[in-house]
Amino acid sequence: MNYILGIDEGTTSARAFITDLAGNVKGMGQAELTQIYPRPGWIEHDPKQIINTQLEVIRAALRQAGLSPSDISAAGLTNQRESALVWDKKTGEPIYNLIVWASRQSTSIVEGWVEQGLGDLIEERTGLIPDAYYSASKIRWILDHVEGAQQRAERGELLAGTVDAWLIWNLTGRKEFKTDVSNASRTMMMNFRSLEWDDELLAAYNIPRNMLPEIVPSNALFGDLEDTFGTAIPLNGVLGDQQSGLFGQAAYKTGQNKMTFGTAGVMNINCGTEPQRVAGLTPSVGWSIDGQTTYEIEGVVFSMGKTMQWLRDDLQLIHAAPDSEWYAGQVPSTDGVYLVPAFTGFAAPHWDPHARASIIGMSNATNRLHIIRAAVESMVFQTRDLVEAARSSVEMPELRIDGGAVKNNLLGQMLADQLGIPVIRPKNAEAAVYGAITIGGLGAGLYSGLDQLAEQWQVDRVFEPEISRDEADANYTGWREAVELSKGWARKINREA
Ligand code: ADP
Repeated sequence: MNYILGIDEGTTSARAFITDLAGNVKGMGQAELTQIYPRPGWIEHDPKQIINTQLEVIRAALRQAGLSPSDISAAGLTNQRESALVWDKKTGEPIYNLIVWASRQSTSIVEGWVEQGLGDLIEERTGLIPDAYYSASKIRWILDHVEGAQQRAERGELLAGTVDAWLIWNLTGRKEFKTDVSNASRTMMMNFRSLEWDDELLAAYNIPRNMLPEIVPSNALFGDLEDTFGTAIPLNGVLGDQQSGLFGQAAYKTGQNKMTFGTAGVMNINCGTEPQRVAGLTPSVGWSIDGQTTYEIEGVVFSMGKTMQWLRDDLQLIHAAPDSEWYAGQVPSTDGVYLVPAFTGFAAPHWDPHARASIIGMSNATNRLHIIRAAVESMVFQTRDLVEAARSSVEMPELRIDGGAVKNNLLGQMLADQLGIPVIRPKNAEAAVYGAITIGGLGAGLYSGLDQLAEQWQVDRVFEPEISRDEADANYTGWREAVELSKGWARKINREA
């Protein structure tokens, strides 16, 4: 019997899964990560805690499965992307905390790069619109703020990387210093055509190349875990979390996709062997397998399931997020009410930090059921906004969904109705974990290839469109008007004040 270890290093927790080849979970471990908030808008993690909790949950998963490390044939890793750290090559001590993707402390560094005129070069080389979200400015920030760090980096005493590189280096007994290409594509330092660190950008950022890991294909042999577990479990696959979700949804062909409905929403679409540029969406590397690179386009929406948390915690209209399905189903429509959840502005595809949330279209007849239904619909319309942006370049014959909110059947049906395509919920809604397991197994040769994996992926439910396109479009037109009204709101108010 072959068992695979799936390591999932997330933003809020470390998890590990032991599965059989089909992805059936035999054992699982999970531990929370401490969120460190040194100042408003900054988020950091203790890098040592990441290693320790990860080891702890791997051991817990083995215990629960009743297996020992020698029973494991392969391991795969998926991780929070963009977050970055710098550590001492000799002692292994981080010189500063891991700066988490959402942290804004390096914003002025990126603004400085843009002022210097680097914006176009960054976008041309990496596909990314310059932002503090990506790793480069986080590494720059650490080198600027820790005394003597730049000189030490130049002397070759320091290493820098994303979470995958940190875990690989530690779990392989400090033997392997590697990162996979999907993670590297989110650093704003990798040339997304050559899949190498871009020397011109590194020079502009003043980040020494010798502190960065080797970029390798996603199904490479990253090393083995012998030093950690006393037996040579090969780590055969690594993918950043969203790419891993796309892989875990068996979206191996052009146009295949996934939309994750978690706190935020993230759509990833396989766009084939060439990078695509789509207005409002971000191109990245999906994965590179056996020398073949697959590109993707990506769209993040800040408030997806988060809107349900707001209904629950702040408005207290529901007791728990799943209640939204029952309440929303008590009325046939919102009766013209739209809820635009731009609480922190819009990300893809509208990109407006000044937008603010609104509820519009209420009459005397509006009650809480309409508001709750409008909140569920906001998840649907925001998805359509992404799909409309993508459709100009990629055909999307169907939408594959995952994440905590997809248990909501009304959401699935509304998505199919609004998008006019089948919406598919897989049996395994833990797409990112399943992605790590299957890329690890693929790297170890436990699967014959992507065809076998495509066959193995199983559908739980297909939602088919049931309403007319006219009805869907009329409803969507109202949404677009509401979005327009929300745009720039904070700026408008400040100007008036
Ligand atoms: P994350 O990984 O971002 O923490 P999850 O994938 O666990 O998120 O999904 C949790 C989110 O989904 C929460 O924001 C919650 O409000 C929302 N959610 C969970 N169940 C439902 C449901 N049945 N209907 C609507 N939203 C839901």
